[in-house]
Amino acid sequence: AYVITEECVDIQDKSCMQECPADCIFEGRRMTYIDPALCIDCGACITACPVDAVYYEAELPAEKENYLEYNERFFEEV
Ligand code: SF4
Repeated sequence: AYVITEECVDIQDKSCMQECPADCIFEGRRMTYIDPALCIDCGACITACPVDAVYYEAELPAEKENYLEYNERFFEEV
């Protein structure tokens, strides 16, 4: 799955939400999150994001790996 990271915080441009064919991007309090259970790995959100906040899970830079956990937590709460 793809993962949204820190560049999204307090930006929430939401272009990705409009482009996602699986409707699996959800609005949180300060950023948006991708539901890994629904993401079909199409990559459309990467192109749509104006701040380059989106990464493929396996290609997350080490300093952004904590966003995997934040993402997981978000969907546990829903
Ligand atoms: Fe949606 Fe595709 Fe991005 Fe997954 S990779 S969140 S399906 S736009």
